[in-house]
Amino acid sequence: MPASRREFLYGLGAMSGSMLFAMERSEPELILHNGKFWTVNPRQPRAQAVAISNSRFLAIGSNQEVLALAAGNAKKVDLSGKTVLPGFIDAHSHPAEAGLSHLRMVDCDLRSIADILKALRERAAKTPPGQWVLGFKYDDTKTSEGRPLTLQELNAAIPDHPVFVQHRGGHTAWTNSLALKLAKLDDKTPDPPGGKYDRDPATGRLTGHVREHGKDAFEKVIPSNFTRDDHREGVRLISQMMTRTGVTSVTDALGNPDDLRAYQDAHAAGQLGMRIYCHIYYAFMDQMLAAGVKTGLGDEWVRVGAQKMICDGSISERTARLSQPYIGRPDDFGMIVTPEEELYQQARKAHEAGWQLGTHANGDVGIDITLRVYERLQKEMPRADARYRLEHCTVINDGLVQRIKALGAIPTPFSTYAYYHGEKMKEYGPERVNHMFALRSFIDAGIRPTQASDYPPGPFEPMMALQSEVTRTDANGNVWGPHQKIALEEAIRVGTINGAYASYEENLKGSIEAGKLADLVVLGRDVFKEDPYNIINIPIERTMVGGNWVWEE
Ligand SMILES: [Zn+2]
Repeated sequence: MPASRREFLYGLGAMSGSMLFAMERSEPELILHNGKFWTVNPRQPRAQAVAISNSRFLAIGSNQEVLALAAGNAKKVDLSGKTVLPGFIDAHSHPAEAGLSHLRMVDCDLRSIADILKALRERAAKTPPGQWVLGFKYDDTKTSEGRPLTLQELNAAIPDHPVFVQHRGGHTAWTNSLALKLAKLDDKTPDPPGGKYDRDPATGRLTGHVREHGKDAFEKVIPSNFTRDDHREGVRLISQMMTRTGVTSVTDALGNPDDLRAYQDAHAAGQLGMRIYCHIYYAFMDQMLAAGVKTGLGDEWVRVGAQKMICDGSISERTARLSQPYIGRPDDFGMIVTPEEELYQQARKAHEAGWQLGTHANGDVGIDITLRVYERLQKEMPRADARYRLEHCTVINDGLVQRIKALGAIPTPFSTYAYYHGEKMKEYGPERVNHMFALRSFIDAGIRPTQASDYPPGPFEPMMALQSEVTRTDANGNVWGPHQKIALEEAIRVGTINGAYASYEENLKGSIEAGKLADLVVLGRDVFKEDPYNIINIPIERTMVGGNWVWEE
């Protein structure tokens, strides 16, 4: 028996006897050789080749060792010296919902208002008059005109269709006059509770810009008639978009039963290229609890995640609950969405039923409240290895970090915000930004933070995440929170094995190790030799999930 083959059998020591038997009999189906593998396995950090069988890694080693395992049918792929990393794990995003948006809406992630109007006009030309033209991913701080869209522009460009364009963050929208009419809003309509219809300060007339619950009047009249097949198609589309950037696993941070079904439908149709850990929003939990479902149910493709709750507001739209006010708004400390006692009641029910918990907590006050709820639960109903999740966990201080460590909790900070949303960080001030997306502080304290895009609000490309975390610099060269820079090797671990740990799957994936799922990404250039300010431009040549190429350039 060759040395690497023995190594592989020892590597499986922790696994069950039956698995060992099955794997022992299998010959490699596929060998990838002549690569530069960065494995994220500290016992064997680098390798030249891997053997794969039954969707898992069989052996990892030198070209010679692994090629010696080749039997008659093994397919051999020469990687021509390319760098290979484990597949990336996006531990917080919204894939099912984003997929539906991409199916139905105009992607307004464009750099000028002129381009956005053109894209909307093109959609209108293909849409019967009177029917809605919908846009999403519009970002008011990113167009060359340096000002937001106006009602007049939308009216002039699309006069015969109601238009509703959502901000990238999802909390605000821009509309035209026909949309206002269909939503039954006029200049005399008062603002709704928890929302705002913006008005021209000079004339008092509606501007078409609406915020928070101000969007409800439109959402009521925009038809939402997705079929089961549309949900599946949305998952197929987003899976294709994400896997071509090197993502191989995703946590859906706000799932519901329709989403869970859509992931299963896409998988059954052979259209799911990435693995899903699906949090369930607490509003849907009664159904799940009644059916006896809990965290971990499912398989390596679609698995039930944590119960998701929401404590406070958002970072990109500047509503996170802070202990010190926003810069330039001395009375604005942000918002609490769910008061502490209510959050505790929501959490307790799921904790008792054996669920992992994940709570959206952005500001230092929101994080403090969420930790208090977790600490109380742990005192009243202690659970070993609870892995409480702090979704986002953006603005921290030393005291919070110590409590996170003591609890063994997992933060999922935004990975691409320093690079992509840098210009919005002015409202937090440089001192506070040094305590935001605080990977350096978490890692130094022995905490395991993850990579997380929150897509659509943040871009999901793992190479952008690495660049953002390593440089803390935006596209214009401004630096945001340099104290929190981490090394490239650390950023890769954050994006791989730490994500697997956050879903209790660190023995299944997150590194290139014998017995683990064969999920990996082949890079067009060596990330370790690249200028850190140019990592974002490294091409993703191929992505493999479970031994199959799900993306090839
Ligand atoms: Zn989210």
